[in-house]
Amino acid sequence: MRTVEGRDSIRELCADLLEDESNMSGAWCELASWPGNLEETAAAVGRCASEGLGVTVSGGLTGIAAGALPEGGAVISTSMLRDIEMLDRQRVRVGAGVTLEQLRSFLKEGTGGLFYPPDPTEETASIGGTAATDASGSDSFLYGSTRAWVDGISVVLADGSVLELRRGEHLFEGLALRHAQLGLLNLPVLGRPQPPKNAAGYHMRPDMDLVDLFIGSEGTLGLIAEAELLLAAEPAHVIDLAVFPAEPSVFWELYLRLLHHGPQLRLRALEMMDRGCIRFLRRHPGELPPPPEDAEFVLLLRAEAGNEDAMEESLMLLEGMIGDCGVDPEGVWGGFEASEHRKMKEFRHSLPESVNHRIALLRREFPGMHKFGSDGAVPPDRLEEYYRTCCGILEDLELPFLVFGHAGQGHIHANAIPEDPEGLPRAEEAMRAIAEAAVDMGGTISAEHGLGRLKLPYLDLMYTEDEIRCMERIRRSLDPCRLFARAMDFSAGGGAAPG
Ligand SMILES: Cc1cc2nc3c(=O)[nH]c(=O)nc-3n(C[C@H](O)[C@H](O)[C@H](O)COP(=O)(O)OP(=O)(O)OC[C@H]3O[C@@H](n4cnc5c(N)ncnc54)[C@H](O)[C@@H]3O)c2cc1C
Repeated sequence: MRTVEGRDSIRELCADLLEDESNMSGAWCELASWPGNLEETAAAVGRCASEGLGVTVSGGLTGIAAGALPEGGAVISTSMLRDIEMLDRQRVRVGAGVTLEQLRSFLKEGTGGLFYPPDPTEETASIGGTAATDASGSDSFLYGSTRAWVDGISVVLADGSVLELRRGEHLFEGLALRHAQLGLLNLPVLGRPQPPKNAAGYHMRPDMDLVDLFIGSEGTLGLIAEAELLLAAEPAHVIDLAVFPAEPSVFWELYLRLLHHGPQLRLRALEMMDRGCIRFLRRHPGELPPPPEDAEFVLLLRAEAGNEDAMEESLMLLEGMIGDCGVDPEGVWGGFEASEHRKMKEFRHSLPESVNHRIALLRREFPGMHKFGSDGAVPPDRLEEYYRTCCGILEDLELPFLVFGHAGQGHIHANAIPEDPEGLPRAEEAMRAIAEAAVDMGGTISAEHGLGRLKLPYLDLMYTEDEIRCMERIRRSLDPCRLFARAMDFSAGGGAAPG
């Protein structure tokens, strides 16, 4: 197993472990290791436990909440856990370090006709990282988040033992579960149930499956070394469209009509970009043409159909809705050819990627800069109100911003991009106010990126002190010495975000 020891050697030989897409600076560690199989992973965790070194688990490092960045201790990278094996027609067993891109090409070559639906657009994300954050993406509108597609996991616990979990084998009875290896686990009685799309704090629902406690636990309960994933049949036809309403009222009308579409339409994704995004894409053009200048919003939608007739019907329905709202169909991009799907995927992905790139450049000019992007979601019928609230907060604080995201799930990312160091505290203030607004509207502070270190300070907006203590108790019962993710201390939630 490859291992590098010493803070300076790590900085010199594997500095990439100290950076992720949050663009937070200041990460460091004393030991880094790259186990190549389950036994080596257990040995790596066991060594850290015996030396008292805290463990930060590192996957594809595409995370945006800075959960994979160590503050001392050891990093265990999953990047060498690369095995992929078909179990049967619907299930595949995958090492944690396999990227979404690698899994997709394996499925394309090997099985034909099957795909793995979770798609957080960033294809270099790892299976372990997406399970640990319960990643979503545009298609989660139809297919749900990662947890819906994880059938089993192998987890290395803090004492170096391996926990094998299959979905359906260990269910909580109400809020309690007694497990031979883990003892008694108790979930809290929550003052308000967790929103349907939520990645903030442990998954805590009566009668839930034990697998779901680990999905979305962000490396705080153990290292997910392998996962058994469910696969879906590729639909016969997929339609991708980008619509460019020139009036906000037209955008919101079309959004609501699509949101409440009838059963004839199998809508897979409903995404948005606002005027700030359009201006940003026009200033920082990629390979694709930027959206038209007069557009106020971009509405990206994707539908699927099982046969040609259903596709024709879906196209007619979509054209009807778009036309009824007064949008010129001539100005709509997209279609149903593979080249058009690639173009739309690239268009969708290029925005967050360019924003992150811009932040990385700004960080060179002023080191305290990092990603300031909200991840809140609200009930979709309240999205317009939430969007306006986000804009109001950012305008009042005089911050340049842009907003995009998974509109169909009431989930948007308001990104503040301060242009000087004086803007940093205002951006921090804005992120907290936006998180608070989401909670006030019955939503969550994080719907897909997880808490990491950046959203952890907002935990107290969503949970009571007792609920946070209960999460901490669950954690202690699995990891009494707090070996994993020491930089993520739930009980410290509510302080200022790290700069
Ligand atoms: C351009 C861009 C677009 C994105 N779009 C989306 C999107 O639409 N939806 C979305 O959900 N996310 C999105 N993301 C964020 C990111 O891709 C996801 O959070 C992803 O799930 C992180 O996976 P990773 O392998 O990179 O994990 P990392 O960044 O390495 O780690 C993330 C967290 O998981 C923990 N972890 C990693 N591996 C394991 C493991 N094996 N066991 C236990 N804990 C582990 C880490 O400690 C850390 O807390 C985007 C990122 C980028 C850069």
